[in-house]
Amino acid sequence: MMTGVAEVDRVGTGPAERSNGRGMSVRLEGVEKVYRTDRIETVALSDIHLEVARGEFVSIMGPSGSGKSTLLHIVGLLDDPTGGDVVLDGQSMRRAGERALARIRNRDVGFIFQTFQLVSDLSVQDNVELPLIYRRTPSRERSRAAREALERVGLGQRRHHHPSQLSGGQQQRVAIARAVVGQPRLLLADEPTGNLDSQMGEEIMRLLEEYNREAGVTIVMVTHDQRLADRTRRTVRLFDGRQVQ
Ligand code: ADP
Ligand code: MG
Repeated sequence: MMTGVAEVDRVGTGPAERSNGRGMSVRLEGVEKVYRTDRIETVALSDIHLEVARGEFVSIMGPSGSGKSTLLHIVGLLDDPTGGDVVLDGQSMRRAGERALARIRNRDVGFIFQTFQLVSDLSVQDNVELPLIYRRTPSRERSRAAREALERVGLGQRRHHHPSQLSGGQQQRVAIARAVVGQPRLLLADEPTGNLDSQMGEEIMRLLEEYNREAGVTIVMVTHDQRLADRTRRTVRLFDGRQVQ
């Protein structure tokens, strides 16, 4: 007990150190992404070096087409870089096998999208249970975890609604519940407030901040909103697939 207390006392010096250890560290080493079709070659990312500490909340800004989504997909193992390496918690993803990648993608990473990406013919509850179904979590536990996640985003009363019966802000809160229901260690958000008015955007930002602070989860968020970016610890700027500054 004593050591636990001492440890609690020592943390809290800064967002990175405040983490309770759940968050995942991210390092990009010279990441490059080139899309090749028959005739056209698009360099979406070029020589990206980035380090995000456990429990850190970082924002990414840049004009449309500058590679923000590509970067997020590569960090979340939804897409492979054509060069360089993604290192998660010190482990090289380039050297990891398909099974390890799938495991990390499913267990450790949560994704939130601008367009919510909920399944329209499933209830709110079932949408939030989905990631746990992929993990083969027993149904009773699944149901409980989804209910808790929905209560946490203030939608405990809307479990049996369908996404189309909710406002945009509510749908994004469902998407957050879905992203965090499996207790990810890394949360990736691609313009999560881009389709929302500023008040709803504020609500979403508050939830992300709360989750970052309380669960110690690492968050990387793409945003066009300078005021939201200013609230994160650090902003990475992209232009034409390159880091600026
Ligand atoms: P952002 O999210 O900053 O708007 P993206 O990462 O979506 O930018 O895109 C970066 C660049 O890569 C753009 O030029 C885009 O057209 C190109 N791109 C993205 N996805 C693909 C793809 N699947 N095939 C070919 N080009 C792509
Ligand atoms: Mg994008």
